[in-house]
Amino acid sequence: MPAEPIGCPPWRIIHHQTLDSTNLEALRLAQQGAEAGTVVAADTQTAGRGRLGRKWADAPGSCLLMTVLVHPPAHCAGLLGAAMALAAAEATSALTGASPAIKWPNDLLLGGRKMAGILAEGPRNGLIAVGIGVNVNGDPDDLPYGLRETATFISHEAGHHIDLHAFRQSLLDRLGAYLQALDEGQSAGVVEGVRRFDCLAGRAIHAQAGSTLVEGIALGWLDDGRLAVRDAAGNETALDGGEVTLI
Ligand code: ATP
Repeated sequence: MPAEPIGCPPWRIIHHQTLDSTNLEALRLAQQGAEAGTVVAADTQTAGRGRLGRKWADAPGSCLLMTVLVHPPAHCAGLLGAAMALAAAEATSALTGASPAIKWPNDLLLGGRKMAGILAEGPRNGLIAVGIGVNVNGDPDDLPYGLRETATFISHEAGHHIDLHAFRQSLLDRLGAYLQALDEGQSAGVVEGVRRFDCLAGRAIHAQAGSTLVEGIALGWLDDGRLAVRDAAGNETALDGGEVTLI
C-alpha cells in the first residue's frame, strides 16, 4: 500500500476558464509538488487530448473537463481509468436515469454514441493524472463536424439540462470511494461495477493492441482491468490497451 493516501477527498479543485489540457496542467502541477487529491478543471481546452495523440474536442462551458492526481494503487493501477469510467457512468445514471455503456478501455457511450473519454497519464513525480472529458449539456452539432455522427451529450439523450456542478460532485464523490477501495486493495467493487455497464462482453470484436491483432468474442473485463477475448480457434488473449471495434 502507498505510504500516502491515494488521493481522495477532500479534493482540492483548481478551476480555469481555459487550459491547453487539464491532464497537461495536472502533470505540470505534479512536477511542481502538487498533492494527490488535486483536481484540475476547465471550461474549455485548446489542446484536449485523447489516446495516441488524438484530439479531444469540447463545447466551451458545456462539458466536464477534469483531471485528478492520484497515487497509483499498489496492486490495481490498471483500474484507475475503470474507476473514473464507473464513477462517470453512475453519476450520469443518478442524474438522468439514462444508463451509459462503458466501452473498454476508456469510453462511455449513450445511445451508441460517445459521451465521454478517459485518459490516464504519468507517473509524474509519483502521481498519475486521470482525466475525463464528458459532453454534458449540448447537441452533437456543437462539436466539430467530424464528430457529429459519433458523439453525443448527456442532455441530448436525457432530454433535459444537467447541473454541471452537481454532476461533477456526484462523479467525484463516487470516484473518491472507488479510489479508497483500490488503495485498500479492494478492487472487486470497481471490476463488478464496470462489468455492469460493459457493452462488449459477448460481442464480436476486432481489437488492435500494439502489434497484436485479435478478432473474436469479447469475454469482458478481467480483474486487473484487461479485456479478455476468445478468437475463432478458442485461444484466449488478455489485452491491456488498444482499440476495439465492434464487428
Ligand atoms: P475511438 O473513440 O475512435 O474508439 P479512442 O477511444 O482511442 O478512439 P480517445 O483517445 O478516447 O479515442 O479519444 C479521441 C477520439 O475521440 C478522437 O479521435 C475523436 O474521434 C473522438 N472525440 C474527440 N472529442 C470528442 C468529444 N467531445 N466527444 C466524443 N468523441 C470525441
